[in-house]
Amino acid sequence: MDLKQYVTIVEDWPKKGVRFKDITTLMDNGDAYRYATDQIVEYAKEMNIDLVVGPEARGFIIGCPVAYVLGVGFAPVRKEGKLPRETVKVDYGLEYGKDVLTIHKDAIRPGQRVLITDDLLATGGTIEATIKLVEELGGVVAGCAFLIELTYLNGREKLNGYDMLRLMEY
Ligand code: IMP
Repeated sequence: MDLKQYVTIVEDWPKKGVRFKDITTLMDNGDAYRYATDQIVEYAKEMNIDLVVGPEARGFIIGCPVAYVLGVGFAPVRKEGKLPRETVKVDYGLEYGKDVLTIHKDAIRPGQRVLITDDLLATGGTIEATIKLVEELGGVVAGCAFLIELTYLNGREKLNGYDMLRLMEY
């Protein structure tokens, strides 16, 4: 299936000069959403994953159906102040600004094999921060899966040494 036909390019959003890749038109097509999920599930099956971790909010959309099919748990990574119990946190640089990501301190047990999911790899700041959180809790990053990689932003350099899957590139 050619997934790109379901991605909508939005010009000059959220600011001038950005060509935003809107995946909501992929998600609201049942066949396309299932196909994309199945591709990531196949990738993850070979890795003996114990847990899926995804940053808010689109990392949930990609990661939760994968976790459900694999029969493993999902742990959310969220912006500061959103998780109710004790967290660890990390500062990160975003394509459009700066922010802090957090995860519950007890979300991962040491040695657990983790698949990280997100919709899109841009500069790599979000995935780098998420990897730091997983590793700080003793998790092993088995792989990272994205719907889209924006190759011209070189986010892959931040993934040096980590296995990764992406279903589309721009
Ligand atoms: P990075 O941290 O620069 O790699 O940016 C990736 C994060 O920003 C992901 O969590 C994406 O959801 C979001 N993002 C950046 N650009 C886009 C886009 O064009 N479409 C959808 N999400 C984007």
